Amino acid sequence: MKIHEYQAAALYKSYGVPVPEGIPAFTVEEAVEAAQKLQEGPFVLKAQVHSGGRGKAGGVKFATNLEEVRQRASEILGMTLVTKQTGPEGRVVQRLLVNRSVEIDREYYVSLTVDGALGRVVMIASAEGGMEIERVAQEAPDKIYTLAIDPALGLMDYQARDMAAKLGFNQAETKQFIAIARALYRLFVEKDCSLVEINPLAVDKSGNLVAADAKINFDDNALFRHPDIQQLRDLNEEDPREVEASKFDLNYIQLDGNIGCMVNGAGLAMATMDIIQAFGGMPSNFLDVGGGATAEKVAGAFSILLSDPKVQGIFINIFGGIMKCDVIAQGVVEAAQKLQVKVPLVVRLEGTNAEAGKRILAQSNLDITPADDMADGAEKICRLVAEKEARS
Ligand code: GDP
Ligand code: MN
Repeated sequence: MKIHEYQAAALYKSYGVPVPEGIPAFTVEEAVEAAQKLQEGPFVLKAQVHSGGRGKAGGVKFATNLEEVRQRASEILGMTLVTKQTGPEGRVVQRLLVNRSVEIDREYYVSLTVDGALGRVVMIASAEGGMEIERVAQEAPDKIYTLAIDPALGLMDYQARDMAAKLGFNQAETKQFIAIARALYRLFVEKDCSLVEINPLAVDKSGNLVAADAKINFDDNALFRHPDIQQLRDLNEEDPREVEASKFDLNYIQLDGNIGCMVNGAGLAMATMDIIQAFGGMPSNFLDVGGGATAEKVAGAFSILLSDPKVQGIFINIFGGIMKCDVIAQGVVEAAQKLQVKVPLVVRLEGTNAEAGKRILAQSNLDITPADDMADGAEKICRLVAEKEARS
């Protein structure tokens, strides 16, 4: 799960990481009031969307007085921000953060994430922070330093000190950096984060280190332990179909193609996407209905697929193990009877109760194309969709 910068900054602050003074705003009026409360400018107004690259896209603007705050706020609020990370459709800005602007002298990069290969939390840092960090990673990866943290020991001061030396911090800055690094690590572990990133970590004109940007991603599988974090979820920032899928506890990811897939098991779901592409089609989603899906869950999944206007055909590929094929068939029939299915539907059922499942589908009077195996099903759905597109 992702959260907004102002929410991440509040968490940083509660862990003792210095952040600029700032107030979130949902309207132009609120932005002006926020600046009034902060009293002293200059201010920086920042679009709050779950995406980086805002600076380059015009989502970060400066203002020296209240009139400029009003002006900039009305420009940013409601704009569709297209950044490198949003995709071409962009994001409509519905929240702003009004900060007292930091007088930045230098910009650094620091983050914590999990290195899957090492099986450890790693700290990644660079003295080349700011908006060009991706370019630095590509062109001068030697300017980015990594340190792995032993989970039994935690982040050791000597490690943070060593990192500070690599970044070129002086004594006073090093002291601050160590405190920030320790606080970030504590936050990362206590809140089950998957990413904590400060870019830029600014050194201001008085020599103080400040998190001039704040980003946190959380591990969804641990969210049940953090009701306080769940509260921070902003559904406006998420794909509506993914939100709907999460209500049914389905693993659903929206993609760009036109063939809807309903599969049980993450591995089979990935293989299904591959085989669809091998037959020249493009999947519109990843969907794993899981091992113990009920007819209701399957019906929910089916209606999510049908609600995508891009979907021109659906391939249901089930290998019944714990999941029984007749349960899947029942869910599909229930959903298909309720919702009008105007696209080709190919179903492959194999494994536990496959025969019973096929019988339910055959007796349903639905227009379903049965498939003998995975390749047969993929070939059929790709052909049917291609024919449908050729007709229209
Ligand atoms: P991002 O582009 O989405 O990562 O947004 P950031 O919050 O990192 O802002 C982009 C850039 O704007 C930063 O790299 C800074 O150079 C600049 N910036 C952000 N906040 C401040 C601030 O308070 N003062 C100054 N002087 N620059 C800022
Ligand atoms: Mn940033």
